[in-house]
Amino acid sequence: MRVLLVEDDELIANGVREALRRRAYQVDWVSNGRDALNAAIDNPFDLIILDLGLPGLDGLDVLSALRQHQKRTPAIVLSARGSTQNRIDGLNAGADDYLVKPFDLEELFARIHAVERRTSGAATNVLKMGEIELDLAAMSVLYQGIEVTLQRREFSLLKKLMESPRQVFTREQLEESLYGWTSDLGSNAIDVYVHNIRKKMYSDVIKTLRGVGYRIDPNLAN
Ligand code: CA
Repeated sequence: MRVLLVEDDELIANGVREALRRRAYQVDWVSNGRDALNAAIDNPFDLIILDLGLPGLDGLDVLSALRQHQKRTPAIVLSARGSTQNRIDGLNAGADDYLVKPFDLEELFARIHAVERRTSGAATNVLKMGEIELDLAAMSVLYQGIEVTLQRREFSLLKKLMESPRQVFTREQLEESLYGWTSDLGSNAIDVYVHNIRKKMYSDVIKTLRGVGYRIDPNLAN
């Protein structure tokens, strides 16, 4: 999952960014409203974590402008503005959730998982397809009841495919989802991750559509 973090307080930004990375999220960070708006319009983020008091353009205006552009990327507001009216304004401007600073990282993750459940249509934090069970909160994967140890990006890739089981993803789409602006990336990185996942699961759970891309094995759903 690729996250746009919009926060002008460097200390908070670094803390959130590090916590997200540890849990296999790809994070890009901007510190003012204009950059946030441009980044969110131009890039396929899965989630925006949005401060409101920002230099340049207020977070609420960023949110309203995005929704006017028909950008539906889920957004969680993370703001010091804590009154009931502030929260109502945030949700009405298009936020999916609203968390008041100071906040607890575990609560932020619980809310992120709630957004992920809504995105994927899952009722719990565990995505299931056939004999694969992927636990978003515990970051663990079971295949045929046995724990599979995946690296962070392997986990992210499998999650991305399982969240949209009918979709075929191009290599480019998967790269965009797994990497941000700053990462340098070997040209065959995605193929390597796919290879590793298949090897660790002793199964062809990810199908290659030659010349098109990858998808999760549709037969798993049966
Ligand atoms: Ca701020």
